[in-house]
Amino acid sequence: MVKFNTLLVRGGKPDDNNTGAVNVPIYNSSTFRYPKLGTDVRWDYERSGNPTRDAVENVCAELENGDRGFAFSSGMAAIHAALSLFKPGDHIIIGDNIYGGTFRLVNDFLKPRGIEFSEVDTQDVQAVEAAFQKNTKAVYFETVTNPLLKVSSVKQLAEVAHRHHAMVIVDNTFLTPYLQRPLDLGADLVLHSATKYLGGHSDFTAGIIVTKTKELSDQVYTLQNSIGAVLAPQEANLLRRGIQTLNIRMDRHIQNAQKIIDYLLSNPKVGKVYYPTVDKSSEDYQIITDEANGAGGVLSFELQDGLDAAKFVNSLKLIILAVSLGAAESLVEVPAFMSHFEIPKPQRLEMGIKDELIRLSVGLEDADDLIADLDQAFAKI
Ligand code: PLP
Repeated sequence: MVKFNTLLVRGGKPDDNNTGAVNVPIYNSSTFRYPKLGTDVRWDYERSGNPTRDAVENVCAELENGDRGFAFSSGMAAIHAALSLFKPGDHIIIGDNIYGGTFRLVNDFLKPRGIEFSEVDTQDVQAVEAAFQKNTKAVYFETVTNPLLKVSSVKQLAEVAHRHHAMVIVDNTFLTPYLQRPLDLGADLVLHSATKYLGGHSDFTAGIIVTKTKELSDQVYTLQNSIGAVLAPQEANLLRRGIQTLNIRMDRHIQNAQKIIDYLLSNPKVGKVYYPTVDKSSEDYQIITDEANGAGGVLSFELQDGLDAAKFVNSLKLIILAVSLGAAESLVEVPAFMSHFEIPKPQRLEMGIKDELIRLSVGLEDADDLIADLDQAFAKI
């Protein structure tokens, strides 16, 4: 078996054409010919399978060390498919700080259809243990949460969940398989918004699921094919291309993030910096160093009380005011007014998301330029 960095570049490529092309072609074909009635064909219809999509699904399975990969038209489509494994009367324990779109799916779509959920701080393993019911079928969480970068342990949660015969679903968007492989730590299903680091260039949306067992693969395949929110071949090709450079991009994201953290920690206008490795006595630090090879390229920071976050972000010239993360370009957002604006203010404050909190997805620009941009914006508040 070749090493991870080689898999990124060379994995998952079927040798299925006679041209010598080093890349898998973009097969823009919604349907495939049967040589004869009754022939067993590998591909028959794009929703059920497409060679370009297969290539990226295969490499994702190899990178996550799973049984099979599945590519969807967005991260939310992947999450919808994963949660469609459950039926009315089932109970799922979910992290209380997961992505807002996942909460919307849970609250507005799945709960009214009879699936039960308990929202729990998944860093608190005892609280998770206490939330189990007879009908609990899964624990669903993000290893690193957004925007406060709190870390949960896949190992500990898998131990608890499996003792209760429940499965473990991990959203690995923030860390990617370059930094963490949840299936190796005990998870049963891992998923991604591949819109973020895996794609890496803010030019399409995509979602990925990788399963650990053949039994789960068969179930997810049926759901992918039945629901039909599959990734189109053009985007599958872009995703495959993005994945080839994941390692060098992640290294630079982390390197830039560290330089910015050092700058922010010495800035008197900053109240607090959120990043798993900042406080070496924290549980976040313990878990991230034990279970991952780095903390990723997203950080958050609070301006000192009363300083105007809107004025600050509006003053930035290089760093782009936009939601999303994991892109080549640095993106900044104010959770209270953007990604988390739907949460009522008292609840939001209880979650620790103040009006002064700013989330930064550190890009691949020169760190000196990013710091200079932050510095001139700080001078204006
Ligand atoms: N999971 C996480 C952690 C995310 O940050 C996002 C989007 O921001 C999603 C899932 C949803 O992915 P998508 O926007 O590709 O549908």
